[in-house]
Amino acid sequence: MDFDVVIIGGGLVGASLAAALKHTDLRLALVESSEPAASYEPGWDNRIYAISPGNADFLRECGAWQHLDMARVQPVTDMRVFGDTGAELDFNSFEIGTPALTYILENARLQHALWQTLQQQDNLTLFTRSRCSQLDWPDDQVRITLEDGRLINAKLLVGADGRDSWVRQQAGIHAQPVAYQQDGVVANFRTGKPHLDTAYQWFQQDGILALLPLPQQMVSMVWSVSPEKSAQLLSMDAEVLGAEVSAASHHLLGDFEQVTPAAAFPLRLMRLEHVIAERLVLIGDAAHNVHPLAGQGVNLGFRDARSLAKILAGRGPLQDCGDMRLLRRHERARREDMLSMQIATDTLKKLFNNHHPLLRRVRNSGLSLTNRIAPLRKMLATHALN
Ligand SMILES: Cc1cc2nc3c(=O)[nH]c(=O)nc-3n(C[C@H](O)[C@H](O)[C@H](O)COP(=O)(O)OP(=O)(O)OC[C@H]3O[C@@H](n4cnc5c(N)ncnc54)[C@H](O)[C@@H]3O)c2cc1C
Repeated sequence: MDFDVVIIGGGLVGASLAAALKHTDLRLALVESSEPAASYEPGWDNRIYAISPGNADFLRECGAWQHLDMARVQPVTDMRVFGDTGAELDFNSFEIGTPALTYILENARLQHALWQTLQQQDNLTLFTRSRCSQLDWPDDQVRITLEDGRLINAKLLVGADGRDSWVRQQAGIHAQPVAYQQDGVVANFRTGKPHLDTAYQWFQQDGILALLPLPQQMVSMVWSVSPEKSAQLLSMDAEVLGAEVSAASHHLLGDFEQVTPAAAFPLRLMRLEHVIAERLVLIGDAAHNVHPLAGQGVNLGFRDARSLAKILAGRGPLQDCGDMRLLRRHERARREDMLSMQIATDTLKKLFNNHHPLLRRVRNSGLSLTNRIAPLRKMLATHALN
């Protein structure tokens, strides 16, 4: 079977790339090891994303945003960030001139919306419940052998197969992830007081607590804490956990009633020297991992897909889509965004995870100062809108 582009991994990022290439002349294949759900549970999903306005537009162009139930999408108009001695930094959408700073929505519903569009795509062949067993580079192409023996040849292979990427390992791209010694603990709660379409974040010495607004007066928690505290939070019963989160958020939203069970995932930083190799490019979590404190993990991945789709669609009809010059163009286009997001989140995490009194003063006065300088505040918020 011969294709122009084969994408391995049909998570949000790989699926969005396939959808973004629907109006091109490219013959596409998508290999996904699981069976994408034909429907989703009616209850609330534990995994919630903050999707930037730029990526919401991208998902609309992909044809996925239109499939979402807007009653389950929460626009965020304000953000309040607190330091550990009461310093505060605020953003609002009115000041920046945008209807929303970000949109909060559920993972399962977005996955489902993307897969609905893929199923109607003429230039795409789906290989679901398929695992790869071998990768070779015969002349001028890349060849994937599936576990059931089928062969797929393509001009370009895109690895979108997540943080432990098989493609990355097969291509010999060296990754040295650094564990943050922190887990992200997630759960959804109903709150006693309205959240006012506001996202809240507290930088505390023992962790970073984010509460993202959801419809129906609920919030989604992402609490980045030590593995010991994470184990403690996971072992608490609903009432105790609700009280703990309410206290950590200074009772700003009143009492907390737990809606979904808590779950935890280990946090790490991964930077790669190169995200491209011969006839191969990595996107999404296969290419980078960042701390979730800025809610940018999946946004970075969508921006990878946007960049690559634009370059492939605009390559001219005769150019080989696996041409190294195209891949280098993509790598250059993505370098600054990836690096700045990794440095910013890593520095903030380290700055607030330190007990030195001088650093404590510096970080809190930094927040207050930034809050007083409107153009700086605007510049910070504008980057996250993309
Ligand atoms: C609990 C939790 C909460 C999170 N919260 C946030 C958040 O609030 N904001 C945010 O931005 N990010 C968040 N993240 C991170 C976010 O989930 C990832 O950044 C995002 O899912 C990356 O998407 P991806 O498509 O690159 O990879 P993945 O979502 O990992 O998708 C990879 C896909 O590849 C498939 N696959 C893997 N190996 C193979 C193979 N060999 N062959 C075929 N298919 C394969 C997998 O089945 C999967 O479908 C969270 C992560 C977790 C775990």
